Amino acid sequence: MTRITVAKGDGIGPEIMNATLAILRAADAQIELDEIEVGEQVYLAGNMSGISTESWDVIRRNKVFLKAPITTPQGGGYKSLNVTIRKMLGLYANVRPCMSLHPFVQTKHPGMDVVIIRENEEDLYAGIEHQQTDEVVQCLKLISRPGCEKIVQYAFAYARQYGRKKITCFTKDNIMKQTDGLFHRVFDEIAPNFPDIENEHWIVDIGAAKLADTPQAFDLIVMPNLYGDILSDVAAQIAGSVGLAGSANLGQECAMFEAIHGSAPRRAGQNMANPSGLLQGAIMMLNHIGQADVAERVQNAWLKTIEDGVHTYDLYEEGTSQQKVGTKEFAQAVIARLGQQPTTLTPVSYRHTKVLDLPAYARRPAAQKDLLGVDVFVHWPGSDPDELAALVGEVATTELPLSMITNRGIKVWPNGFRETLCTDHWRCRFLPTHGKPIDKGHIISILSSAFAKGIDTIKTENLYAFAGKPAFSMGQGQ
Ligand code: NAD
Repeated sequence: MTRITVAKGDGIGPEIMNATLAILRAADAQIELDEIEVGEQVYLAGNMSGISTESWDVIRRNKVFLKAPITTPQGGGYKSLNVTIRKMLGLYANVRPCMSLHPFVQTKHPGMDVVIIRENEEDLYAGIEHQQTDEVVQCLKLISRPGCEKIVQYAFAYARQYGRKKITCFTKDNIMKQTDGLFHRVFDEIAPNFPDIENEHWIVDIGAAKLADTPQAFDLIVMPNLYGDILSDVAAQIAGSVGLAGSANLGQECAMFEAIHGSAPRRAGQNMANPSGLLQGAIMMLNHIGQADVAERVQNAWLKTIEDGVHTYDLYEEGTSQQKVGTKEFAQAVIARLGQQPTTLTPVSYRHTKVLDLPAYARRPAAQKDLLGVDVFVHWPGSDPDELAALVGEVATTELPLSMITNRGIKVWPNGFRETLCTDHWRCRFLPTHGKPIDKGHIISILSSAFAKGIDTIKTENLYAFAGKPAFSMGQGQ
């Protein structure tokens, strides 16, 4: 018996959760439930994160959480509960299987069967944003080695477990050589440990185009957070409907399972909603807690129900569907088919599924790190880069000369183009050409002189070499 936490959520949440739990009970899932309240009412009671301390305690104790969609009230600065839960519990992997159910559910891609594995904690979702000048705001894109190793290890282990033959990695490392470059590099490091699984890398833009056009070309795709957020919705939609997809959010200790859709408030309380997305989440949960036999029975009964044309309003099509049903009746139809297998759709076999056992992250010895120079970001309302170079040049030293000025990453001094648009946000790079390590004291003296001259410095970024290799980007056009 496994104790799990459930939250019935908002809108259609209670109906689809009740339907899902009825199916799990009928399938003899060995689970005990602790119900908590999260979402709209908790927010409106004044809790900005939508969850109480007591509920956190339950979630952390049980470690497995089945969550229905919730409504985040508009305005008022309420924090997204999903993002909070993922980050607080370290749920680094988001898994979304996207499979077409042709010919029973309309899709342009009958042969589609792709799993998207998205890194869930890092990237631009670190949520570190600042306004730096009147004209420029920034969001930090943070990618870490442990973050990359954990998600890529997970993707390969998942592929082996579920018989996936090929893993594709999507990044944009032709542009983001440091951040996406690290993700790609880690993928290339780990792939050889899985010689039975084919591996490949695509630049995300053309990869996304290919996924939307020919999803059959892919089996499992692993990618950083932002691309995964967008493309997992695209994949679910082109497979048939976002209403059919579930997702698992997994961490070292805890896991959360859900539907990918929202609380659909307009459909609430009418016994109309399709419970399939949450049921798919629950099936992943059963596999996760080692009840693969129950997961398999439920999934095959669900496939048979879809195949028999028993459809909720969102899937119902004159001609293809046999019977239009409500949420409760759909659940009853699945229950009535427990023990049956689909005949046209492929039945699943989860019998050999074990709880995934992943290697713990091992930190490598620190590399030799040398300070080579500094980027000083300046708020300056002028427009002529030569004028700024003259001003900032006065604070440069022989040890730390001014080597370049960029605006939004584009080199504007020396030898910039008149055509380049310049904002009030300038990066002044102080970097000697000899490539030898410098002292941090030089940076402090540059900043002190800038302060004395009234230059508005907004931040600095040290320029390092790791293991003898410069580890920072060049200016565009440098
Ligand atoms: P939504 O997913 O709730 O609805 C989009 C459309 O899909 C609607 O037309 C809806 O009727 C339909 N739909 C969704 N699920 C369905 C189902 N199970 N059966 C039948 N039809 C279904 O997206 P939205 O309208 O943008 O968001 C509504 C609320 O949900 C918002 O407050 C949003 O913040 C929240 N939301 C929550 C989650 C979550 O808790 N994981 C995720 C997304 C959105």
